[in-house]
Amino acid sequence: MELLDGKKTSDDIKFEISKKVEELKAQGKKTPHLAAVIVGNDGASRTYVNSKVKSCEKVGFRSTLIELPDTISEADLLAKVNELNNDDDVDGFIVQLPLPKHIDEHKVTLAVKPSKDVDGFHPENLGRMMLGLPCFLPATPAGIVELLDRYNIETSGKDCVVIGRSHIVGSPMSVLMARNAKVGNCTVTLTHSRTKNLAEVTKRADILIVAIGKPEFVTADMVKEGAVVVDVGIHRIDDPSRQSGFRLLGDVKYEEVAAKASFISPVPGGVGPMTIASLMLNTLKAIDMK
Ligand code: NAD
Repeated sequence: MELLDGKKTSDDIKFEISKKVEELKAQGKKTPHLAAVIVGNDGASRTYVNSKVKSCEKVGFRSTLIELPDTISEADLLAKVNELNNDDDVDGFIVQLPLPKHIDEHKVTLAVKPSKDVDGFHPENLGRMMLGLPCFLPATPAGIVELLDRYNIETSGKDCVVIGRSHIVGSPMSVLMARNAKVGNCTVTLTHSRTKNLAEVTKRADILIVAIGKPEFVTADMVKEGAVVVDVGIHRIDDPSRQSGFRLLGDVKYEEVAAKASFISPVPGGVGPMTIASLMLNTLKAIDMK
């Protein structure tokens, strides 16, 4: 078994990006600037946003963290989004999900200017992805494609099974794995909560991408010998024996599945850091697209 090491790969990408930022600066061009909006105090969301901001600093980007209370009204959040849309100094921005229940996430996603939508969630970017036009690809699926590419995983003609059909991970992932591209050309099966005999389907997968959002859901008996397994899930499990008070688990029962897989991404250190790397790459692209 070989590790799909997202931490190392994202460090390589960050190094490459930092070189590009130095070049931009040497040419007297603008320093890329990513803004992140976080609403409320959810611990996991804060951790994700903080690591995004830290990564920006590491590659030489400017970053702005906008912290808003969970009592903010939908109208005030939309006004903030509009402000960022019109701020020429900000090249791209994200609004960390999930949002409090009283705010319609779709409205917020639609309000983000597509040319600054570095998370790749806006329907214009998703539509462009479907058509193979220049766009921001959704950060997590794009990070997985990049990871498979950098490990030279052969995808053409392979059976790929995706578990989960969310708009931010599973659905776009299935599109990317089926498209006519270096990482692509798979025969894709997209599975979801109504899929019958899931294990029968997943056992056919040469490449299994798991985004179900249930800790350790995928067990060894669901996986074909030699499969490439990508674990998107991330769960904080209470663990008083640790200083942090929690440990992280993925959607895959790692030890037993790793024993069967040819390649597997760990949690932590797999897809998470690649999502952040994608965000950085999209921010650089935002400058090119200006
Ligand atoms: P989601 O809850 O929106 O979607 C889960 C999907 O799983 C749904 O489409 C549902 O139909 C499917 N599902 C539920 N039960 C099923 C079953 N029994 N069989 C088959 N399919 C079933 O989740 P999401 O936003 O796509 O996230 C999935 C996981 O990935 C979560 O743990 C999330 O925290 C994690 N995540 C990680 C990153 C990262 O950067 N590492 C980014 C996004 C999401």
